[in-house]
Amino acid sequence: MKTLTCDICKNVIESPVNTRNYFHIAHRDLCESCRDKLDYLVKPTIRTKSPFDYNWFYKLYQESIEKSIQKGKVDVKIVV
Ligand SMILES: [Zn+2]
Repeated sequence: MKTLTCDICKNVIESPVNTRNYFHIAHRDLCESCRDKLDYLVKPTIRTKSPFDYNWFYKLYQESIEKSIQKGKVDVKIVV
């Protein structure tokens, strides 16, 4: 069976389907729960940015993912 490991929490994702039960973002593989937490954390910051800039958003998201990987989890203390 095809499996994939979440880069942040190291959970094994069975039968991974992109954008359904895992998310390939910024060259990283994230499980659904890690992505949800990341979304929750970066959303308030995104609302402060107007007009919306995709490159800025991508960089912010990427940095947040890298910080999360270093910590081994998505932490609310991650400054995005
Ligand atoms: Zn995860």
